[in-house]
Formats: sequence, structure tokens, C-alpha cells
Amino acid sequence: MSGYQVRRSVIEAITNYTPPTDTLDFSKTKPTDIFGCNVFSDKVMKRMLPKDVYKSLMNTKKSGEKLDPAIAGPVAAAMKEWALSKGATHYTHVFYPLTGLTAEKHDGFLSPDGEGGAIAEFDGSLLIQGEPDASSFPSGGLRATFEARGYTAWDVTNPAYILENPNGTFLCIPTAFVSWKGHALDKKTPLLRANQAINKSARRMLALFGNDNGEMVVSNAGPEQEYFLVDRNFYFARPDLMVCGRTLFGAKPAKGQELDDHYFGAIPRRVLSFMLEVERELYKLGVPVKTRHNEVAPGQFEIAPLYEQSNLATDHNQMIMTVLKSVAKRNGMACLLHEKPFAGINGSGKHLNYSLSSPSQGSLFNPGDTPHENMQFLVFTAATIRAVEKYGKLLRSCVASAGNDHRLGANEAPPAIISIYLGEQLSDIFDQIKQGGLKGCKKKGCLEVGVDTLPPLPMDAGDRNRTSPFAFTGNRFEFRAVGSNQSIAGAQVALNTMLSESLDFMADEIEKITKGDPKKLNEACQKVIQSIMKKHGQIIFNGDGYSEAWQKEAAKRGLPNLKTAPDALPSMTDKDVVKMFTSYGVFTKEELESRREIYHEQYNQHIQTESALVAKISKTIILPAAIRYQGELAKVCADMKTAGLKPTTGTLEDVTNKLRGLQNSTAELEKLMAQNSFKTVEAEARFRTDKILPAMLEVRKWADELEMVVADDLWSLPSYQEMLFIK
Ligand code: ADP
Ligand code: MG
Repeated sequence: MSGYQVRRSVIEAITNYTPPTDTLDFSKTKPTDIFGCNVFSDKVMKRMLPKDVYKSLMNTKKSGEKLDPAIAGPVAAAMKEWALSKGATHYTHVFYPLTGLTAEKHDGFLSPDGEGGAIAEFDGSLLIQGEPDASSFPSGGLRATFEARGYTAWDVTNPAYILENPNGTFLCIPTAFVSWKGHALDKKTPLLRANQAINKSARRMLALFGNDNGEMVVSNAGPEQEYFLVDRNFYFARPDLMVCGRTLFGAKPAKGQELDDHYFGAIPRRVLSFMLEVERELYKLGVPVKTRHNEVAPGQFEIAPLYEQSNLATDHNQMIMTVLKSVAKRNGMACLLHEKPFAGINGSGKHLNYSLSSPSQGSLFNPGDTPHENMQFLVFTAATIRAVEKYGKLLRSCVASAGNDHRLGANEAPPAIISIYLGEQLSDIFDQIKQGGLKGCKKKGCLEVGVDTLPPLPMDAGDRNRTSPFAFTGNRFEFRAVGSNQSIAGAQVALNTMLSESLDFMADEIEKITKGDPKKLNEACQKVIQSIMKKHGQIIFNGDGYSEAWQKEAAKRGLPNLKTAPDALPSMTDKDVVKMFTSYGVFTKEELESRREIYHEQYNQHIQTESALVAKISKTIILPAAIRYQGELAKVCADMKTAGLKPTTGTLEDVTNKLRGLQNSTAELEKLMAQNSFKTVEAEARFRTDKILPAMLEVRKWADELEMVVADDLWSLPSYQEMLFIK
């Protein structure tokens, strides 16, 4: 389709827009009625399971007790009955391989009964363990292809659920995915291990304060998911969007996001209708989605659920991504989860709101009204300061990917330098401790708006800072460097383990001073925090994280600035990182090495695909359009000459010049791409970052310049202007 035709069909689609399904009527199907209707929830289990089985399952789920395999039989029976009542014909063990995607393999419930009929079959052994062919999932040398075995193991802590399709439904069972030797091949297994670690270390610390009452301490996640929507006609007319998820070409639009008129603006009708459908689907799956709004860039939006316990929040975030994509399709749009679909326009991240909590303590990062008197809070916060400073490179490596490099290394939120924003009040308190005496704290006040009819607004103790990668936001930390496309598991695995190590370190130090005397606790904590502030306090930065000055200041403070994935990924196997992960049983050395290799491979494959597509689009789409235009111009010049007029050759010369630039740079890129033997994946990644990416950009530069001069009706790629603003 030519650009002109594509544009017409999009405009038609928008002007003739009708909802794709029956109109949703939330007064008839109330969100409270449908919420969780497709979830094999605690409530359903309580109703359907024998009492002792339910109790045993809850003990595992709520208190982390060892799973009793004997309950699998009765749970499977109930699960099957429930699933069949919901029309399910198949079941699948859902798992989360290192591709970051969600994987499923379906098996039918039906089994022949030997008399020409069939029965539905599903027993405890099928619930507990599955065996997908693991050979096509990345394992990074943990498993040779001839040892293709991989097992999925039932994750009893997350509920099973039903997914719907217009032609049927199927039962989904969340599972962990491991090799036949027990190595983690997925995102979930290490998260479950790290959750165990943080529970133990956090409770050890709570015990020092007399606050361990046997309850589990869990980590929580509230991921804010950003995404772009473009019309599907545009999407299909852009091979780069379809294959790579981002535009590899595209001149800067006349109007970008400069006017900031999109952020929190009224949501376009078709988009709102899409959001309502997304939310309904997610309600059914028990995902507590809460907020929706326009984001900073045109065409960019955000959806955020209420925070949940980390394992559940992680599965739910995967569901959110899947549902966003499929509902967008039904609404004639494509949902882009790439971290940087459009150059020069804000990218998409996934702010990971993170906290630790227990039922009776609430968030362990809640400062209360008088934080300076809340020593337990100060200790947990100091542990975070130490962890993020000590393992900052690891944290950075957890969010390293080809896509996310476009955000972190570039001039936008957040920078690649890991630092912590604490806000004025807390920074002041920690400074006081550092100076050797905690005296008091700056008070929260009330805002004076100056209008008598408006209510008095209580003022937060600290302002917000949007430029920090790791910001304290009242009762939690917000890690903003996660990419929109990434699983939130990796960052949480790192955070939980880093914090475990820090808390244990602090507990050791505190115990050395108090020697069991609770009266010395406060003084001991202050001493330990003081030494942490002296050693690690340089990680705290409350200023503008985007500024040039911060880059310099951070370098002075010795904070790493790992701009690209190849800079960051090797930190995954740094000596202290390996030591930390192995001593907490979260990763073995082999597992870490395999991950490091897989993430490098993924990076390389990404850039390889992108560069191949740059060359192809350049030669088969852009060059032909430019040559046709050149021909038209040349003909006009010749005709003018024939008519005895002096031809105006300026445009022809300009186009010819840019065409040459395009051809030469494409040839240069292809020459570089021909090099494909590398000693290591690391060497290959370096080459792709340092040589291929700049060569791709050079091709793009000429192509984008041509887009500004070639006749619009000859240009078949939809423009930035069109993709971003036609909604
Ligand atoms: P904002 O854009 O102002 O940061 P949002 O409402 O978009 O806020 O998202 C905040 C996210 O943080 C939500 O998912 C929310 O549930 C989550 N959150 C709130 N309190 C906590 C907490 N104690 N621990 C983890 N996440 C939290
Ligand atoms: Mg936020």
C-alpha cells in the first residue's frame, strides 16, 4: 500500500469508528462482579477443597511452609472441575523463559476411555510437573541441546486462571521452569528464591526490634506500565515497527512533544474505549488495575495496577502486557511496548514501585510522622542506601537491553548513573546521623493555596523528583530504569538479594555493639548507619539527574556511568555479585554466567536484525522512492530546457546529493555487517554497539533528510506526524 492509501484507510477507520465488540456496559456487568471471575482464587479453593488440603495450601502460600506434595491430587481434581465448568478444554503450564516473554504449551483434558468415548483427565502429577520441550528456549550453555529436558513446576503461590478466546477457554497454571539438573531457566525461579532470602533477613532485623511475630516479610511491586498506541494500518506499513518494535527511520515531526499538551490530557475516544476493554479483561483475571492516563509523548499512555506481592505482581505485569497487545489489535491499533519506538520522542519505561512489608508492620519503608524517631525505618532505608551503592552496577545490568539503551544512555529519564533520591527531610536526617548526632527533623506542613473555599492540603515532607532512577516516594522506592518491555522479575531478584545482604551485614554489626542488650539498640543503629553513610552516602543525589553537571559530579563521586548494555551486562558476574547471589542461594555461578551469555546473545540478535532491516528498507523502500523523485525532477529540468527555459536544478542536486549519501552509508553498513565471526558474545556486542549502531544512524540520517524533500505521494512509509497524532 502506498503511504497515501494507508493514510486514507486510517482516517476512514477513525471517522467510522465503532467499538469492535458489543458495547461494554459497566452498569450491567459491574467490575466488582467480574473481578477475579476467571481466577482459581483462595475463595474458590476454600469452597472447593477439603478443609485440611486448603489449610495446608494456605500455610505454604501465606507462611512459606514446605509444599506437601500430597495435596496436589485433591487440588488438581478441584481445579479441573472448576476449569471444565468455565468451558476449558485444555490446560497449560505457563512459564517465563529468559526471552522475557510468557510461554505456554497446551494439553487437552480429553483422554479416550477405551470404550469409544472420552473422559477429562487431569491429576496431581500433571499439576505438579510438566515437561515442555526446553531445547528452543535460551539456556546459555546450562544444557546442551541433546539434553533438552526442562521441567515446569507448579507455583502454588500464584493462582491458576482461565484465558478466554472467542472459540473456547483454557486453564493456565503458573509454573517455574528449570533444567533437568535443577538450574533455573526462567525469571520466576530466582524471584521465588530471592523472596525466601529477603523474608529471612528482614525478619532477622525485625527481631532485633522485637517486631518479628512469625509473619512473612514480602517484597511488593507496583509497576507502572508505559506504552504507545499506533493505528494498525500504520503499523503494517512500517516493517521496522512490525519486526523490531521501533522505527528505524523517520524525520522529526513539525510538532513533537514540545508543547507538553498530551500529558494527562483528555484521552482520545478510541483509546479510552481500548482502555476500558483492557481493564475489563484484566479485572476478570484478578489484576487490580487502578490508574490510566496519557503520558508525556503524543500517542503514549500508562496503566498501573495496585501494588501486590512481588511474584503475583510479576505474573500480573506479564498479563497486562499480553492483554494490552491483544486488545489493541481488536481495536484496530498496535500496542508498542518497545522502550524507544520513536527517536526524539520520550521512550517508555516501567516504574517499579518497590517495598517490603508484613501484615502487621505495613511497609517497612514507611517513615511515619517522625522519621527521626523511627529507627527501624532508618535501618531499612540505610540498608537500601548501602545495597544500591554497593551493587549499583548489578542493578544497572538488570535493566540492560538493546531497547532500553535508547533511554538510559540517552538524554532522557532516567540516566544510566544509578543514584538515590531521598528528598529533603530524609537527606537531612541521614546527614545528621553522618555528622554524629540525630537531633530532629524538618516538619511536614500544610499548603497555603490562598483560596478560602479550597480544603487545606497536607504537604508531603519531600517533593518528587522525576529525574532520579531510584527515588524514595513516601513509603516505597521507585526504580525507574526498568524498560517497558522487560520483565520486572530481574530487578526484584537483585533488589531482594542486595537488601538481604545489607540487612544481614547491619544486623551483624548491630549485634556486635549491643551484645544482646536492647538498651544499646538505638545507639548501635546510629553508629552502623553513620559508617554506612560515610562509606556509601555518595549514592544520594537530590538534584537534576538529566543535567550535564550531574554527569561530572557523579564521576567525581566515583559512581559508575554504564551507558550501554555491553558496558553493564558483565557486572552480572562480578566477583562480589557472584558471592552475594550464591551465598543466598538465589543463583549458582553457572546460572549467572548463563544469564550473562543469554542477555549478550539477545542484545546481539536484536542489533543484527535491526541492521539487516535498515539496509533492506534503505534499498527497497527509501532508495526507490528517492530515485523516482529524482527521475521526475530530471525530466522537468530536461523539459524546461527543451522549452527554452533555464532549468531550476537546486532540488534535483539536493536530492541527488542525499541519494548518494544514502547509497554510500548503506554500502558502508553492509560492509560492517559482513563481519560475523567473533571470539566471544561480549566482543560481538562491543562491535555492534561501537560500529554497527553508528553506521545504522548514518543511513538513517540520509533517509530522514530525503523524507523532508521527496514528494509526499511517493513516500510510502507513514511519517512520525501521522503515526503519533492520528488517533
Ligand atoms: P505515580 O505516577 O504518582 O508514581 P501511580 O499511581 O501511577 O503513581 O503508581 C504508583 C504505584 O505504586 C502503584 O502501582 C501503587 O500501587 C504502587 N505503590 C503504592 N504504595 C506502594 C508500596 N508501599 N509498595 C509498592 N508499591 C506501592
Ligand atoms: Mg511513578
